[in-house]
Amino acid sequence: MSDNKVKEIEDLIKIISKLPGLGRKSASRIVLKLINNRDELMKNLTNTLAQAYKNVVRCKVCGNLKSINLNCICSSKKHDRICVVENLADMFVIESTGIYKGHYHILGGTLAFFESKNTGNGLLIESLVNRVKKNSIKEVILATSASSEGETTAHYILDSLKDTKVKVTRLARGVPVGGEIEFLDDGTLYSAFKNRSPIVSD
Ligand SMILES: [Zn+2]
Repeated sequence: MSDNKVKEIEDLIKIISKLPGLGRKSASRIVLKLINNRDELMKNLTNTLAQAYKNVVRCKVCGNLKSINLNCICSSKKHDRICVVENLADMFVIESTGIYKGHYHILGGTLAFFESKNTGNGLLIESLVNRVKKNSIKEVILATSASSEGETTAHYILDSLKDTKVKVTRLARGVPVGGEIEFLDDGTLYSAFKNRSPIVSD
């Protein structure tokens, strides 16, 4: 670090350039903007970040984000279907298209083949089964990716839901193999949803 560099500024640039889509150059511009707007931006951002750090948690039932002081959206019975995704990014993509109206369940990952033999490896699968039972859910849409882990996970879930008699559907195969929901374009995602078909355990 050269003499005319301020450590605090350098640290800020370093952290901000770790955010998606930002390199060092845009990070520097952001930091300058913050410095030049100490009260309106920097102070506000500091407080807002601190609040989010303190209050935003993942719901232990559905895996979605929620405010620590409020009930999660999953406790409402507004919809009778649940779309199961691997991660939050997938949910944001599906939500932004407006294709689907219903509840979500965010697993927090996928299962490798060997893991499906045991307990689901910390994914929120047991709580999915409980949600289906408790909220008289009519359809579970599996929107896990078309990779082998995604398939393994889908079948593990299907198996876990066997006793509930709920209808389980899977996104259509318009999704390319290995394709992750997060990176699909709207058109592909739309037809994958529209042409989803029931799957049954063998
Ligand atoms: Zn929840």
